[in-house]
Amino acid sequence: MSHIRSKRTAKKVQDLGKILLKEEISARYKQSSPPEIVKKCQLNEVKRSLHKSRLEELPDSAASLEEKCMKLAAAIQRAEHLVVYTGAGISTAAEIPDYRGPNGVWTLKDKGISVKAKSLSDANPTFTHMALTSLVRLGMIKHIVSQNCDGLHVRSGVDRKKLSEIHGNMYIETCTQCKDKREYLRLFDTTEHTGIRRHETGRKCHRCFSNLKDSIIHFGEKGPMESPYCWEEARAAAESADMILCLGTSLKILKKYPCLWCMGRQKRNRPSLYIVNLQWTPKDLACQLKINGNCDFVIRRLTQILNISVPPYQRYYDPLFFLHSPLLSDECHANRLKMLHRGQLITDHNYALLDNVDDNPEEIPQIPDDTEGNSPSPGWYGVGLRSAKMKRKGKKFLS
Ligand SMILES: [Zn+2]
Repeated sequence: MSHIRSKRTAKKVQDLGKILLKEEISARYKQSSPPEIVKKCQLNEVKRSLHKSRLEELPDSAASLEEKCMKLAAAIQRAEHLVVYTGAGISTAAEIPDYRGPNGVWTLKDKGISVKAKSLSDANPTFTHMALTSLVRLGMIKHIVSQNCDGLHVRSGVDRKKLSEIHGNMYIETCTQCKDKREYLRLFDTTEHTGIRRHETGRKCHRCFSNLKDSIIHFGEKGPMESPYCWEEARAAAESADMILCLGTSLKILKKYPCLWCMGRQKRNRPSLYIVNLQWTPKDLACQLKINGNCDFVIRRLTQILNISVPPYQRYYDPLFFLHSPLLSDECHANRLKMLHRGQLITDHNYALLDNVDDNPEEIPQIPDDTEGNSPSPGWYGVGLRSAKMKRKGKKFLS
């Protein structure tokens, strides 16, 4: 009997121990965990609101913009070796969406809205593109490094030796088998059938019959150094720069290329940095001047202050018509993309009209375009490896 009683007592003690242990753990949890959880939630909330605020476009007041444009003009006049870095923000006036702006590709994707791509054959270089070309011709800009694949810098007539299109150009396909990596400039977007790690365009090299590849470098891909990327030229320009002007770029990608920022030099010996962008950039605290303004507005005001005339873009003289390799007769049927149409020469009378309008595409005299075509979403509109990874994981696309 006594044996059974002691066994029961032992069981009771054991149960009581378990209960006490549970209570102790629960008490400790109550003491320590809530503040940690609260802290974590608070931190996440701060991160979320910071991320949100960084996506906001916060334009400067008119007075502040004017003052900053004057400062920028003075800096450009002082500079001996100005290099310009451009991003999607300089092409939004051509109705090509950027990535992180209010109507950007990624912003819309985050909201579950599909991006309706305008036919890029309808897009023309903006005032900013034309002004930069004028400044390069005047020797005031030594080199342009662009993240844009829309080909609008080439189409604005800028000297290609002074341009590094570090993520490629949608109008250029290349033969990687030919010794000189033969380039084919086309009058249409060559990326119709291409994508991430899938660069063959479906056309063949006219010389060696190898498959041609588009020139686009998607996010996460590693690109070559030569044309149109011209990394050596970009690196050399940055090395000699005493001023860097960033236009319409969030700098989230560009900041990852140390050779563009002279990081090997002491801070005080690095080029002075000027940024024109409506949203926050990671270089805002490091720059001499941040202008929260629309690129076309700021550059137009800048050219006025510097007294530089900027010729309007005229498609008839678009360099692409002089540089392109025509499709062979058996290739023409395979291309369903709208070709760039040369249109007619705009007369002096129309030039006067162009000078009097303020970059509103609806007001610019339209060049007749009799080419009918489809406007599928270009292969580079996108989103690169980040999107592909998300798709593989079955996750919703996040910014
Ligand atoms: Zn070839």
